[in-house]
This record gives sequence, C-alpha cells and structure tokens, in this order.
Amino acid sequence: MKMYNSENIFAKILRKEIPCEKVYEDEVSLFINDINPIAKIHVLGIPKSPCIDYSDFIEKENDKNISAFFNSVEKVLTLLDVKKDGYKIITNSGINGGQEVPHFHIHILAGEKIKL
Ligand code: 5GP
Repeated sequence: MKMYNSENIFAKILRKEIPCEKVYEDEVSLFINDINPIAKIHVLGIPKSPCIDYSDFIEKENDKNISAFFNSVEKVLTLLDVKKDGYKIITNSGINGGQEVPHFHIHILAGEKIKL
C-alpha cells in the first residue's frame, strides 16, 4: 500500500507554507488556480484530508466529507460561471494517469473548448 507523503506541494499549500491563488475554501476543501494553466480557466479542487488519489479518498474519507467535497465542486462551477458553456473535470492517478502531485485533487478546465 502507498503511503501519503505530507511533504507534497498541495499539503504545503494547505498548511499555508507556500502561497496560492485561492478561488474558494471551506472546512473540507480548497480551490486554487493552477500555477501552469492549460486552459483559460484551470482550477484545482483539493480536499483537505491526506489522501493520495481518488480511490484513496473514497476509501478513507467519510461519506459526509466526500459529499461535501463534490458539493463544493458544484459551488465553484457556479462561482466560475462555466455551467452554460461547459467544462471538463479530470483527476489523475499514479504513473499511468500522469499524476504529478500525490494528494488527491480534481482539475476543472473551462473557458474555451478543451482539447484533451
Ligand atoms: P496532476 O498531474 O498531479 O494531476 O496535476 C498537478 C497540477 O498541479 C499541475 O497542473 C500543476 O501545474 C499544478 N501545480 C504544481 N505545483 C503547483 C503549485 O505550487 N501551485 C499551484 N497552484 N499549482 C501547482
């Protein structure tokens, strides 16, 4: 089993050790602009619990917080005003998924046609 490494960049952002451009925050999640955007809108949704990827999050987190996270994703979609023209939500896991940061997060891509 893989171990969560609390020295990853998103853990440092959550601990406010390094700065970020915050889009939205509540008790369970933080949403920030991606430092290297691949679309006009590129927001990362990061649950605060120490989980490596989607499966780790679903396995370890309780239903209340899982639900709260996905409800906050919906809130941010409204905040970004992307629901009319559409968006793409992606999460990467492991080597085959091309995951760079080993703390579960989703990418919200919008603002233009996403060619992925
Ligand atoms: P992954 O490949 O793990 O799904 O995506 C990690 C994302 O985090 C990448 O899109 C990358 O640009 C972004 N990223 C990496 N380091 C930082 C950082 O220090 N701040 C912010 N805001 N985004 C970062």
